[in-house]
Amino acid sequence: MKAIQCYLDEKVVIADPLELGISDATSTSLLFVFHIIAGIATITAYSKYLISKSWIDNNLTKQLKKLITGEWEVRIVSMDEPNAFTIGKKQLYVTTGLKALLPDEKELMSVVLHEAGHTLKYHSMKRLTLHSATSSFFYSISFILSALSIPTAIVFIFASIIVDNLIYNYYSRLTEQQADSYAVKIGYGKEFAAALRKFHKLYGRNRKPVDPSSKIERFIKKLGHLFDSHPRDVDRIKDAIKNSKDVRRSIAKGTTWDMIRNISLAVGINPDEAKKQPEFNKMMKNISSMGYS
Ligand SMILES: [Zn+2]
Repeated sequence: MKAIQCYLDEKVVIADPLELGISDATSTSLLFVFHIIAGIATITAYSKYLISKSWIDNNLTKQLKKLITGEWEVRIVSMDEPNAFTIGKKQLYVTTGLKALLPDEKELMSVVLHEAGHTLKYHSMKRLTLHSATSSFFYSISFILSALSIPTAIVFIFASIIVDNLIYNYYSRLTEQQADSYAVKIGYGKEFAAALRKFHKLYGRNRKPVDPSSKIERFIKKLGHLFDSHPRDVDRIKDAIKNSKDVRRSIAKGTTWDMIRNISLAVGINPDEAKKQPEFNKMMKNISSMGYS
């Protein structure tokens, strides 16, 4: 009887929302820290694994160092799927499948620059932090709800998985736009659009076309885009061409100051500071030699 009483007392205490709120803040923080540590450990381990399975592409590395300063390493991974990605520091990976899809050196470099944009803007770390924060927060709320009502908690868990996905993918699309913009503003917009067209052609084959007269099909497709990690190919191509024209136009008619302003804003440096930096001048020289000035 005493044991039952204790059990009941304990239940009452656990169900106290105030008490739960305090313990929940602690568990949320612990979960957040755990997520970050686990994420960094996974990235580090995977990065080490990838290094052991890849080799440095001296030509791409040299080309990239000509365009942007830093200790870059472009590595090739033997993988049929055309892809490029960045993990950890300034190591960019290109698959053998991507090299085969983009034999044009400049088109391949435009994709490498997109990846460099991700690294320079710390996108992996920002995505990991966001995902850790939202999932820890949702977990804590479901923990509180489970003490009050199990069915509500179950419904909440399913709903939060969807919302978590929407938030993450929305942010992911923003980072993709930023990385695209980086490649375009360095001067590789035309080549980047061409590379994207090849991707679209390759993957578009497997996609079922949407019936334009069906409102439901169009609605489902639009809804599906909300869960995409990348913006639509057609939008990325359109943006790349438009922004590329803007950059070319302003560089063609512009003064050196306009060029400095454009490029520095594109890569996220204060234009006044940029003028003073020798590595920035090196970048400007390379862009000029590409025939824009
Ligand atoms: Zn990307």
